[in-house]
Amino acid sequence: MDSSIYLEGDITVCEDCQVEKPSEPLQSDCCGTGCTPCVFDLYEEDLRNWRKHCFDNHQGGNLGSTVSDVLPVLTPSAFTKFELVKITALSEDTNLYRFKIPDCRSLGLSVGRHIVLRGKHEGRNITRQYTPVSPLLSRGFFDVFIKIYPNGPMSQYIKRWEVGQLMEWRGPYGHFTYTLNKYKHLVLLAAGTGLAPMLQVIQHIVNNDEEDTTVQLIYASKMYKDVLMKSMLDELGSYWNVTIIYVLSKDSKENVKARYGDQIRYTRLTKSILEKELTFDLSETYFVVCGTKSFDKDMIKYLKQLGINDEMYFKF
Ligand SMILES: Cc1cc2nc3c(=O)[nH]c(=O)nc-3n(C[C@H](O)[C@H](O)[C@H](O)COP(=O)(O)OP(=O)(O)OC[C@H]3O[C@@H](n4cnc5c(N)ncnc54)[C@H](O)[C@@H]3O)c2cc1C
Repeated sequence: MDSSIYLEGDITVCEDCQVEKPSEPLQSDCCGTGCTPCVFDLYEEDLRNWRKHCFDNHQGGNLGSTVSDVLPVLTPSAFTKFELVKITALSEDTNLYRFKIPDCRSLGLSVGRHIVLRGKHEGRNITRQYTPVSPLLSRGFFDVFIKIYPNGPMSQYIKRWEVGQLMEWRGPYGHFTYTLNKYKHLVLLAAGTGLAPMLQVIQHIVNNDEEDTTVQLIYASKMYKDVLMKSMLDELGSYWNVTIIYVLSKDSKENVKARYGDQIRYTRLTKSILEKELTFDLSETYFVVCGTKSFDKDMIKYLKQLGINDEMYFKF
């Protein structure tokens, strides 16, 4: 998936200054011999410069407050309808859904917040939580990725969605708080769609030049092909303070055609893997966990065994 899908909508040229967005090299453009800088490093550098020059300045947030910004787009007390404008497959069972926000406004979420979707299944109203993955300051749209479960009531409702329909959302909700440079290191332990809030946290950190916190994302998936939002992760992983480790429980080195530079461990995420990967001072490290119920339970058990107390981790 091209990174423009989540960051700049479908923009390929800056609408204000007409500077073209850099295009991503093909895998075949990389010789795979470890050149420094690699063609992908150069692309990511170009993309960052372009984004700073164009997107950040014109499209992404420095437009100043307008009256319509002051009015909230969402409220926790009532559902608001948003038009579904795009569906993009991310993996066999997970899609990225883009919703339009009228008048080029922003959803106005703070980091780590989620929103609630109302749907209908077998004649009954149902609600479920989802975490937008588009940058917090995105204007005119927001994105959520959603895994479709074979027997999930909301999944059955979402499976029938078509572009142009209106869906009902309310929010924001959540208790996660993040303070600039409060911790030296942040370790994010995610599995599957548990990646969603982690993407928000990492984007929040890399977008602040005053951040000194280093981030390590340890992302558990079954197979390499199940890794969600890979191009976004590639880009985030290119920042000086972000390291990403993919832990694949059902894949093997022989099967995987990994991107050059990807750090992959072919194993389940166990306490001994955590011990091996956590090479810095744990007393200066804050942990964030988000995955399935059993993943969360295991990770918290391992953290406790590693001496991490309750104040030093947050479970989404
Ligand atoms: C704060 C919060 C944020 C969330 N953000 C997202 C998000 O961004 N994207 C997203 O896809 N989902 C997210 N979820 C999960 C989402 O709210 C629903 O639970 C999910 O979409 C399944 O709903 P359903 O009605 O289809 O299935 P359910 O009836 O809820 O479950 C159906 C079956 O799927 C299994 N199942 C449900 N959820 C999971 C899971 N996470 N891992 C493994 N098995 C599961 C259940 O055990 C059950 O067997 C979030 C949940 C929370 C609490």
